[in-house]
Amino acid sequence: MSSKSTPMIKQYLSIKEQYPDAILFYRMGDFYEMFFEDAKTASRILEITLTSRNKNHGKPIPMCGVPHRAVQSYIARLIRQGYKVAICDQVEDPAQAKGLVRREVVRVITPGMIIENEFLDARANNYVLAVTRIGDVMGLAYLDISTGTFRLAESEDRDAIADEVLRVSPSEILLPESVRSDTFFSAMITAVSEKAVTFIADRRFGYGEGRERLTDQFQTLSLEGFGCETLRAGVGAAGVLLYYVGETQKQKISHISGIETYALTDYLCVDDMSCRNLELMENLRNGTRQGTLLEVLDQTVTAMGGRRFRHWLRYPLLAAPEIEARLDAVEEALGNPGHTGTLREALKSVYDLERLGSRIVMGHAGARDLIALKRSLATLPAVMETVSLFGNRLFAWREDTAPLSGLAEQIENAIREDAPPTISEGGIIREGYSAELDELIKISKDGKGWLARLEAEEKEATGISSLKVRYNKVFGYYIEVPRTHSEKIPAHYVRKQTLVNAERYITDELKAFESKVLGAEDRRAALEYEIFNQVRAEVRTHNGAIQSAAKFLAGLDCLLSLAHIAEQNNYCRPEIRTDGQLIIEDGRHPVIEKMITAERFVPNTVRMDARENQILIITGPNMAGKSTVLRQVALLTVMAQMGGFVPARAAAVSLTDRIFTRVGALDNLSQGQSTFMVEMQETANILNNATPDSLVILDEIGRGTSTFDGLSIAWAVAEYLHDLRGKGVKTLFATHYHELTELAREKPRVRNYNIAVREYNDEIIFLRKLVEGGTNRSYGIQVARLAGIPGRVIDRARMILGRVEREHQNLRTISHAEDDSIAEPQSVQMGLFCHPEAVLSDSLKKLDITRITPLEAINYLNELQEKIKFH
Ligand code: ADP
Ligand code: MG
Repeated sequence: MSSKSTPMIKQYLSIKEQYPDAILFYRMGDFYEMFFEDAKTASRILEITLTSRNKNHGKPIPMCGVPHRAVQSYIARLIRQGYKVAICDQVEDPAQAKGLVRREVVRVITPGMIIENEFLDARANNYVLAVTRIGDVMGLAYLDISTGTFRLAESEDRDAIADEVLRVSPSEILLPESVRSDTFFSAMITAVSEKAVTFIADRRFGYGEGRERLTDQFQTLSLEGFGCETLRAGVGAAGVLLYYVGETQKQKISHISGIETYALTDYLCVDDMSCRNLELMENLRNGTRQGTLLEVLDQTVTAMGGRRFRHWLRYPLLAAPEIEARLDAVEEALGNPGHTGTLREALKSVYDLERLGSRIVMGHAGARDLIALKRSLATLPAVMETVSLFGNRLFAWREDTAPLSGLAEQIENAIREDAPPTISEGGIIREGYSAELDELIKISKDGKGWLARLEAEEKEATGISSLKVRYNKVFGYYIEVPRTHSEKIPAHYVRKQTLVNAERYITDELKAFESKVLGAEDRRAALEYEIFNQVRAEVRTHNGAIQSAAKFLAGLDCLLSLAHIAEQNNYCRPEIRTDGQLIIEDGRHPVIEKMITAERFVPNTVRMDARENQILIITGPNMAGKSTVLRQVALLTVMAQMGGFVPARAAAVSLTDRIFTRVGALDNLSQGQSTFMVEMQETANILNNATPDSLVILDEIGRGTSTFDGLSIAWAVAEYLHDLRGKGVKTLFATHYHELTELAREKPRVRNYNIAVREYNDEIIFLRKLVEGGTNRSYGIQVARLAGIPGRVIDRARMILGRVEREHQNLRTISHAEDDSIAEPQSVQMGLFCHPEAVLSDSLKKLDITRITPLEAINYLNELQEKIKFH
């Protein structure tokens, strides 16, 4: 390479220095080039060829490039992998540049700072989140720049903040530099591991700087109006987000016009693990939406509604009046199926107003965005009209959309329906909108006619019938006359070119025409761009109203969706109470009832309260339906508190502050979380954080360890929950330890239930009915038979069971033991070793079913069989 490249690489390096953690896209002509390490990384991820510069002189510099026209898709791939991309453009015209063209980073795109639709999931928010700590208080804020959604919260409870970070599930996290090696923060980062983490200087997290940034952004004197004036840590975190917006977007973003302050205690908290266990938004199997509560419930028809619905589902309410307001609206919609249908149909033609608005404000919107906006706005009057036909419940949700009434028309008048995606090449503005533009359009259009007319006139005037008016790129417009007529040429013709048989001339008139026509195309494109910007600027002034309309439509969409699903699936309106009662009459599991096709879903009734039926111990064989009942109760609570109807004949739900779930090792084996340690950590979390207003779901805890350990732990946990803060907490406890049913004799608020099965000819029939009372049989052998274990093995197992049960008689006395000693059974276990069956049962007990394959299981059974043959 020539020595000329040196200043360029120098320029590159000085820019790159400012963006060490981003991949720098350096514009050179029609390409964005990457160099050094960036080139190596990008070529690997983008699967593009890595070449090098400076091959012959000194050390070669790795490089790769992508064409600027296709840059979006390359950026998208890097962002998805968690990288940041700094776009460095030429900021002066290369033709005018003296020496090296000036270049600047015009924008940094990061996983949490995206406005392009093609990089975003339309139905989910994309958040960048910041956390900080001031004294004992943790502050957290998160922002979606594609919609302007901006929220802030504080808490002294670190675990609650950690939970909240997981609930927000941000694409990117900003943290103070000083917490790099802080254990709490590193644990938090690990929990959201794939996400990008950016460390920012501590001073940026300060309250003073944050407050200044926020008030400046919102154009207010204080933050009183947003309820966060005194929330120092929260404001610090929010301020950093605005700082980061400035650093990455290189412009002020006016659509971030306010911030919502909330308290973590304003919402029903379902921690991340419980959210997974209950499959609220992602299934346990492969992390998709399939088979989740979200999939069943979310019938919204707009992107904004979809995003809002996720929020409602993840943030169920804790205030009865708010819940009732939603329920009222849902009920009203249900009562007017005709209007509801009309409205849902109308909403289908509403585009993503929130994101359109943001793109318009940030100057990234094209003509097609304005058309989408126009079409959406055009449906507004009809939507408002229909909303007003309902009673006043749904109408209470409306926003004033009047300021937008003229806007659709304004866009309609200006922007052509068939406008192209680019805004620099014309074809955008309608005729009739600007006289000046019309004139230019007319010129280019009329050019042909004018030339034909000129040709006819000149033929007539000169009497040369073979005279032609033509155009070529080199000479422009000219009049061509065969040489034979040279003597007839008028004096004002100026000779331009001589050919073999003809002469070419121009005239003043033609010259004037030429400059008009040739300039017209360029001028037209420039003028259209100018007018488009004016229209866009005009629309921008309405953005506040657009965002309010979007908010209204999103909420409306959610309410109508809740009504639609209630109608489709025959849900009932839950009664919201505060007396601790939780009554579900003939309730169904909203997801499973849709999934099972062969079998009819059997409804079940669950009644819980704070006085007598607080802890329900549910026993029953494997596959009976224990987990289903448990989850059903939790899901219905979530649904009721999000303001929706529930799958039951009748339901009363007392406001629940937190839902905890602990699902036994075997049940989420696929997640590789079967270790006993994890199970105990989660149980510890429940015991430490549950309140008398919580709902606890324990599904077979203690399964990950030996029988007696497991039973002892389960027993002690149940007792603890019963005695929690002298009040106890509503708990559903599914267990295969029948011994636990003895607890009901000792603790006043414990009740035994089981899921009924009937034996028929040595087979079991699952009745799926929850009935009072405990069971003392697990039907494991019958279930094993159902699973296809060979008859010989089953018969043998049955025989062994008989003997083992006799041996175990004294084990059943455990709960009657005078001193409550849970260690005692250990000696029983030891005593069993002298019998062959004991060998068998002990081997079986030691077996960790979570860790063996079906084939290993068969082999093991075979081995056991061989063993007892010798006895
Ligand atoms: P357990 O936890 O007792 O082993 P599950 O709750 O996992 O049992 O239920 C096993 C299967 O039984 C479920 O996947 C579902 O297909 C079916 N099932 C459970 N409850 C019902 C019900 N009430 N009505 C119909 N089918 C049910
Ligand atoms: Mg289960």
